[in-house]
Amino acid sequence: MRYTTEIQQKMLERKNLIPLIEKYNTPMWVYNADIIKTQIKKLKKFDIIRFAQKSCSNIHILKIMQRNNIKIDAVSLGEIERALAAGFQPKDHNIVFTSDILENDVLQKVIELNIPVNAGSVDMLKKIGKISPQYPVWIRINPKFGDGHHLKTNTGGENSKHGIWDPLEALAIIKQYNLNLIGLHIHIGSGVNEKNLYQASLAMQKYAIQINKKIQFISAGGGLKIPYTSLDQETNISNYFETWNKTKKIISSRLKCPIRLEIEPGRFLVAQSGILIAEIYSIKKIGKNTFILINAGFNDLMRPVLYGSYHKITVLHKNPINEQKSSVIQGIIAGPLCESGDVFTVTKTGIICHRKIPQVHIGDYIIIHNTGAYGASMSSNYNSRPLIPEILYKNNKFKLIRRRQTIQEMLNLETSL
Ligand SMILES: *Cc1c(COP(=O)(O)O)cnc(C)c1O
Repeated sequence: MRYTTEIQQKMLERKNLIPLIEKYNTPMWVYNADIIKTQIKKLKKFDIIRFAQKSCSNIHILKIMQRNNIKIDAVSLGEIERALAAGFQPKDHNIVFTSDILENDVLQKVIELNIPVNAGSVDMLKKIGKISPQYPVWIRINPKFGDGHHLKTNTGGENSKHGIWDPLEALAIIKQYNLNLIGLHIHIGSGVNEKNLYQASLAMQKYAIQINKKIQFISAGGGLKIPYTSLDQETNISNYFETWNKTKKIISSRLKCPIRLEIEPGRFLVAQSGILIAEIYSIKKIGKNTFILINAGFNDLMRPVLYGSYHKITVLHKNPINEQKSSVIQGIIAGPLCESGDVFTVTKTGIICHRKIPQVHIGDYIIIHNTGAYGASMSSNYNSRPLIPEILYKNNKFKLIRRRQTIQEMLNLETSL
């Protein structure tokens, strides 16, 4: 984590950011390619790293993954098309489609390209089995427990819609249609505690032995933690790998077949690479509170509103003289949306709270950190605000990787009918 921060520090230097802001205007996302590469290296012991692209789905980020031998998880037709546009070839299991439903247009596309399907429901298996016997499938097992940084990101147990509850029922369908079961997958949530990640590996052993069919892959899913606060710890990768590697060996010897161990992180690879830069437009007192209003809202970064998430926030003063001053204020940092919940500084339960920041003025910039995962990819056009640009920092240079959407482009969906 500290190392990651050091890499980021270089990108964040004033002499880099001020010209960048002058060129592209606020608000904008910026990603640091070196941090993504640093995170990738930490996982190199796993046989296969599969990027959960929903966390950050820009084609140019996917290209970084592709160049670093990372495979891709797609959860929609749009994500399959993104992977293809980034240069992923639909062979060698480079793309796997994971979902709990199989829409007709997706079904057509996966069959056309022979993309393996990771089925989170028995209905998916039936649907593909009827059309395409012997199709390569995974099953995503709901191991009857889950975990996550928030209830909404817990993907196991009976309050989650995800995964197959009874793998033996899935097995019967696989037999009925002669489907080719190639892998078993367990993903219990996003932002998962280590104890539960280990439990998931025990569950994988249990189910693999119960299913007792030769397979090629097991996937530990994603869910790895990154430090959002100074108290948080990144998931201990060497312990995590050892646990799952042991599981892989046990399954391999019980089923008498070689197994490849996959991991499927989203957040871990990209969260710390990204920042959101916005500009202060108003500093106003409302009763005892000071609201600092910026030009990015929850249409851009949804995590605080959706999950009560904490993001580190720093200030970049427009006037460098102000960087020397040491006075601090307590402010509530909020966006431009016509909705009072549009606040970035909230408690875990979503109550607005103050954040201590340096004294700021209108025109200064607010940087919201660790927004590379579930930032841009979750953005919307709420309040009819266009999607904002994404920029990649690589080899000490900034490159535009998504331009700002125009208002006309938004309106076109309704006017050009
Ligand atoms: C979201 C998701 C992931 C990634 O979760 P992270 O917490 O970002 O690592 C992995 N696998 C599946 C199936 C997912 O839906």
